[in-house]
Amino acid sequence: MINHHPDDNLLTEYASGSLANALGIIVCAHLQNCPHCRQRVEHLNKLGAAILKQSATEPVKAETFDQLMARIRSQSPVADVDGAVKVQQTHVSYEKDPMLKRLPKVIAKLLPSDGKLKWQRASGSLKIARLRAGQQQYEISFQRISCGGKVVEHDHRGLEVTLVLHGSFSDEDGIYSEGDFLVRTPGEVHRPTATQNQDCLCISVVEAPVKVTGLFGKFLNPFLSFHPA
Ligand SMILES: [Zn+2]
Repeated sequence: MINHHPDDNLLTEYASGSLANALGIIVCAHLQNCPHCRQRVEHLNKLGAAILKQSATEPVKAETFDQLMARIRSQSPVADVDGAVKVQQTHVSYEKDPMLKRLPKVIAKLLPSDGKLKWQRASGSLKIARLRAGQQQYEISFQRISCGGKVVEHDHRGLEVTLVLHGSFSDEDGIYSEGDFLVRTPGEVHRPTATQNQDCLCISVVEAPVKVTGLFGKFLNPFLSFHPA
């Protein structure tokens, strides 16, 4: 059951095709599993078209899933070992990982084509793997929290948008499960903890570096520094 959704502003920008790619990907992935938001997008599209019709201009063209995929494919080439650039494809080796084998299509397309997703250990219970989405101002990455693991308390200098892909975690404000969509704004401090029964996999889009505020922050900051794709 999904309890946390993108707000109407974000959905309106998504529907009009004006969201940055990285944010569009994460909204699109949420929509794939959320009939409630798909209905809202449909409604916003109709509303937008009606308003534009009234003002006698061209109707807004909603960005469909296929159009978004085409945009990602054309804008996120990945250089392989010998420097050649190729379009990413989901690799068979990801099938072995129960967390990665059933990702929303739009996210599976971001996995490196050589099957080598690079996980970096950021703390005892948190691993991060950066992804490429052809974006300069946003970083997009997987975060994997081991069951019961706590992430260092941190705040945000920029927007952070997170989608839970597998398992669940909690923080000071609530519990977030598969499909839940969270937006953290600058200045908000939180400390996510994965639930006890299983690991948690999230995908996050971060607009600016995350500043670690806890005792161990100074050791972790290099791992959380901003590396645009
Ligand atoms: Zn939703």
